[in-house]
Amino acid sequence: MKRCSKCGEPKPVSEFNEHRRRGRVELQAYCIPCARAVNSAWYAALKLKILAHYGLFCACCGESEPVFLTLDHVDGGGREHCRQIKVGGTSFYRWLISHGFPAGFRTLCFNCNSGRQVNGGICPHEEVMLNVAYPAVA
Ligand SMILES: [Zn+2]
Ligand SMILES: [Zn+2]
Ligand SMILES: [Zn+2]
Repeated sequence: MKRCSKCGEPKPVSEFNEHRRRGRVELQAYCIPCARAVNSAWYAALKLKILAHYGLFCACCGESEPVFLTLDHVDGGGREHCRQIKVGGTSFYRWLISHGFPAGFRTLCFNCNSGRQVNGGICPHEEVMLNVAYPAVA
């Protein structure tokens, strides 16, 4: 048994994740449920910090639930960059902070972000708006 240093409960070692330190495998100080809670709280705080800079709403549809929001390369390109840094991942968020929030990104929700990818770079929402603005001549 091992005592979790977060919730203080003694739990079987199977309730702890392993991690490697200098080639040795050790058990984490927090049990798996505690580690998960800490990680997601940490991730949510990190994400909010990013969204506070790039926008707390989806630039396309106005979605404001942070869980649904992600960052988008404004130019739609940067594929080389995306390969190096997974957009939406913690390493990407940390990269943004360490580079002083570079320009060229904006907030989109996952719907609009993937909608654009599937739809050749333009969100189906925008397409609907374009159709309303310029009705097809019959
Ligand atoms: Zn715990
Ligand atoms: Zn959206
Ligand atoms: Zn949209």
